[in-house]
Amino acid sequence: TQELMINSEKLTVAGQLAAGIAHEVRNPLTAIKGFLQIMESELKDQKMYFDIISSEMNRIEMILNELLVLSKPQQISKYSQGNLKDILEQIVTLLQTQTNMNSIEIITKIEPNLPLISCDENQLKQVFINFLKNSIEAMPKGGAITIEVQSKNSESLIVRIVDQGHGIPEHILKKIGTPFFTTKENGTGLGLMICNQIIEQHKGKINIESCSKGTTIEIDLPVS
Ligand code: ADP
Ligand code: MG
Repeated sequence: TQELMINSEKLTVAGQLAAGIAHEVRNPLTAIKGFLQIMESELKDQKMYFDIISSEMNRIEMILNELLVLSKPQQISKYSQGNLKDILEQIVTLLQTQTNMNSIEIITKIEPNLPLISCDENQLKQVFINFLKNSIEAMPKGGAITIEVQSKNSESLIVRIVDQGHGIPEHILKKIGTPFFTTKENGTGLGLMICNQIIEQHKGKINIESCSKGTTIEIDLPVS
């Protein structure tokens, strides 16, 4: 079993992020430019070029959309007293189509009468969506994801997301949460960085434990 305490250093490094964006955005743009030039000289086989252009455009859009989420917290934070049970239940419902399609069952074990937490609900939802999507993506053959919530000395709430996915090997665990680090063909490598930033803003902590039988994400959120 490997463990990782995600540190905030990784995420606030604006320079690293900017360099990453430039790199990630430039590659698809170069490809688009090149194909447009070819289209100018020979107009046959246009469909193939257009397909490539549109898939590169989609990739840029996906990256930029995730970056947009990232820049939101600084702009408008709407903190209120939130009920974690309600938030999690909404997210489970939201992901139902995706879990059904992948033969995944989400089991919730939520302690009754949880204290409220001071939070930006939409941001927290984003965090749970990102973690749960990663779990779903790690379980191509289906299985169960368990979400547990407990209160700890009425000081904080512990949310545990336990999946039965392929796990995260040690050499990869060190890199996750770094901007644009992904092992997926269609990943952006921004999900965990966004989770880190939002939980950090909520003065919480994230701990990730993983082995070849699955991954456990533990989120520790202070009670208001
Ligand atoms: P993305 O999902 O776009 O790849 P993330 O930042 O969400 O970006 O995740 C980064 C990487 O961390 C993933 O590509 C994957 O290798 C690994 N990872 C994250 N969560 C899990 C999980 N629950 N099970 C296995 N691997 C995971
Ligand atoms: Mg992800």
